[in-house]
Amino acid sequence: MRTSGARSRYKRLCRGEFITTENTEDTETISVISVTSVVNITGRFAPSPTGPLHFGSLVAAVGSWLFARAAGGRWLVRIEDLDTARVVRGSEEEILEALVRYGLTWDGDVVRQSERTALYDDAVARLRAQGLAYDCACSRAEVEQAASAPIGAEPLYPGTCRNGLAAGRTPRAIRFRAPDELIVFDDIVAGHVEENVAKQTGDFVVKRADGAYAYQLAVVVDDAEQGVTQVVRGGDLLSSTARQIALQRALALPQPDYAHLPVVLGQDGRKLGKRDGALPLPSLDQARIRDTLAAALGFLGLEVESGSARDMLEKALSLTRGRRYATIGQQNSTGEE
Ligand SMILES: [Zn+2]
Repeated sequence: MRTSGARSRYKRLCRGEFITTENTEDTETISVISVTSVVNITGRFAPSPTGPLHFGSLVAAVGSWLFARAAGGRWLVRIEDLDTARVVRGSEEEILEALVRYGLTWDGDVVRQSERTALYDDAVARLRAQGLAYDCACSRAEVEQAASAPIGAEPLYPGTCRNGLAAGRTPRAIRFRAPDELIVFDDIVAGHVEENVAKQTGDFVVKRADGAYAYQLAVVVDDAEQGVTQVVRGGDLLSSTARQIALQRALALPQPDYAHLPVVLGQDGRKLGKRDGALPLPSLDQARIRDTLAAALGFLGLEVESGSARDMLEKALSLTRGRRYATIGQQNSTGEE
């Protein structure tokens, strides 16, 4: 049973690659070790279609592309469109077109989280079955009030509904019972990280009051289902990682490697983001595309001669292959530009 469990999970993780192994008649003899040895590196870029790509997201796209391609791996694109109120029509097409113009081609089909709710339903049902998820009736205001959290910070959930809803209360969201244990991981760029999720954020929402699945849950389910073995993304998501690892453990999913790139800061020292009105990337003028790509590679510590986007990425790949992962992005880890 143990072997077949590992095998079926593997099958889900790496659909394409499994076929060669599966063709042998004697599938029962496949050991976990031989299966592991054919697992390929898979990276991903997961933008939200809330506007055009900006420089910070280009850095994340280029960084994750280089990490995956330098290891001979696959690179996937996943559209994180669960927060429908923030989705901007047409921006998915804009993002994908920009990736192509910057030479960042992906493998397989683009996946959309809005089309994958059955997978998230299943994950939450599995958490519930283990007693690891429960209904919460609290409004955000109630949580903030009870937690006396500073406005704007993620409030620590006080556990109001942990042992069942009070009489007359209506379930709104579903929360994950956060483990009271230290989660420790080594980020390829950010280094050693430890966090106790129960103490940092408390039980957190996996399905929101508006019915949408929460980012943390969807990311964990998708990364596992898509066979993602390395997550390279902006450093602003480092603080989500311990929560995601806690969910991976609860759902018995593999833990990918993490590399959180330094956050790109604007001239005012603030993070560049769509909500901050960061400028969209140039996507038509070839000279401006080259300059912008050179700047993104420069941010990752890679100096390459100007050329077509494809040539520049190929040169960046050859520089990356000769390095250890850990050197990528470290030049800028203090946030300098
Ligand atoms: Zn509650």
